[in-house]
Amino acid sequence: MAVIGITACRKLEDYRQALLHVGGEVRILDPSMALDDALEGTDGVMLTGGGDIAPEHYGGAPHESLTDVEPERDAFELALVKEARKRHLPILAICRGIQVLNVACGGNLIQDIASEQTGSLEHNLKVPPNQPFSRAHEVWVEKDSLLASLLRERLESDSIDVNSRHHQAVKDVAPGFKVTATAPDGMVEAIEDPAVPFCLGVQWHPENFWRTGEFRPLFEGFLNAAQTSDARAR
Ligand code: MN
Repeated sequence: MAVIGITACRKLEDYRQALLHVGGEVRILDPSMALDDALEGTDGVMLTGGGDIAPEHYGGAPHESLTDVEPERDAFELALVKEARKRHLPILAICRGIQVLNVACGGNLIQDIASEQTGSLEHNLKVPPNQPFSRAHEVWVEKDSLLASLLRERLESDSIDVNSRHHQAVKDVAPGFKVTATAPDGMVEAIEDPAVPFCLGVQWHPENFWRTGEFRPLFEGFLNAAQTSDARAR
């Protein structure tokens, strides 16, 4: 069984359940761990949600809306992404996770959608996360992508409804990555590295739907990649 390392955060339970329901074994990675210990015996890394990344990591001046910055968590997760990629481990990055992934690989962020992008949709809907009405907006999924291949059976006309609880977003995508889902207002909602088997970030919260299974294929595909990765074969 593949062991998935998930980064510690305040609302871990849905991430855990989403992985347990597809047969994964979960271990929690937190900033007190040395990187080698965190990754020893770990077959895949899942980056979870949380507060904002300190903008010094991508060359920005702090915006007044910046919230819940955790310097130790930033340092740990940015280093974790780089090391996990070096070891060819599959990565699934959710919400804050897609932002960590993008920054770790050389991209940057919109620090506050509402004040920096006039006319954008509301992306920060704090309603019960797993209720139908919390499907905040649709995303358009790029046909030729890992994301599309995973969601193939659920995709109707290349779009899918998602929830949305973020006030920041990917701005310039990291070199080598491509944008594979966007909201109707143009916000980046998914990125992936096409050069490796599984390195995917999504801006919404698929883990909130583990009871009803809408995004189960994302977690299944991730676990499958972790089970068969070259890192594991070595
Ligand atoms: Mn959104």
